[in-house]
Amino acid sequence: MTTKTPRIAVVGSANIDLTTFADRFPRAGETIFGTHVDVGWGGKGANQAVAARRCGADVDMVARVGADLFGPATIENFKAQGIGTTHVRIVPDTSSGVAPIFVEPGGQNRIIVVKGANDRLKPADVDEAQPLLARADCVVLQLEIPIETVYHTIRIAKRLGIRCLLNPAPAQTLNIDVAAQADYIIPNESEAETISGMPVRSVADAEACARELIGRGLARVIITLGAAGALLATRERIEIVPGVPVAAKDTTGAGDAFIGSFAVFLAEGCDERDAILRANLYAAMSTCSVGAQKSFGSRAVLDREWNARSLA
Ligand code: ADP
Repeated sequence: MTTKTPRIAVVGSANIDLTTFADRFPRAGETIFGTHVDVGWGGKGANQAVAARRCGADVDMVARVGADLFGPATIENFKAQGIGTTHVRIVPDTSSGVAPIFVEPGGQNRIIVVKGANDRLKPADVDEAQPLLARADCVVLQLEIPIETVYHTIRIAKRLGIRCLLNPAPAQTLNIDVAAQADYIIPNESEAETISGMPVRSVADAEACARELIGRGLARVIITLGAAGALLATRERIEIVPGVPVAAKDTTGAGDAFIGSFAVFLAEGCDERDAILRANLYAAMSTCSVGAQKSFGSRAVLDREWNARSLA
């Protein structure tokens, strides 16, 4: 493995999660008192950037935030985490990406995601960030920004010869010809179903799905399988990399922990299987505490756990 600090660029979303807890949902026209509220940093792009940063990479974010209370605070949060914000800009007359989440005592939730400024990250903005991308070891993408921006970034990464990871989340169908230019497509089971049009309800289904996607031209597919770990498919082989048994409490953000950390381990020079094993551990550890970014641990804790468990 190399000793050079990896550089990761995330072109993606930043949201604020407003999680409100109440004894029940209000009826139409009704106002009720809730019990408490949690204001959390979210958005798949931001989450993956934070995971990569906590795993020890130099991380830059390319994103758009709103001209509201949350926009400057989001930029401050990135800075506090040590994430580069040169290409995180405030869009005038637009709200930040916000996700009001309502939770009932049983844990049942209702979520509305307002994309806000995330929807204003355009291909020209990525062009402007090209010098930054050119210095990166890896570009990481998700689908909470306009799809044309995602495709444009994949093409740029390909042209610059930079490793490109696409997490096709939230689920959306993909232009396979463009997606095939990314080095890795990393869906969970339901996203794999949407991309392939095939049911993915078991490990056997995931294998069939990954085989189909490779057949359609994707270079490398990793389907994350929750507690079961992840399945790696390339033109040469299909392999299950087992998950790490833990007492999971809240799996929110587990996929983001997996992607952000996997990007770092690959850039450090781990082989694929080893990078997936380590990402499985990092993501499993994140499920042991509540929240997304809040649940992402430090590299020191990860390394300690890795050595203690002798997973390699
Ligand atoms: P998403 O969070 O996007 O739905 P998954 O549920 O597949 O994605 O989880 C992503 C990764 O997190 C898995 O590949 C695995 O490494 C880890 N993970 C998720 N849930 C658990 C769990 N209950 N126990 C251990 N690891 C888990």
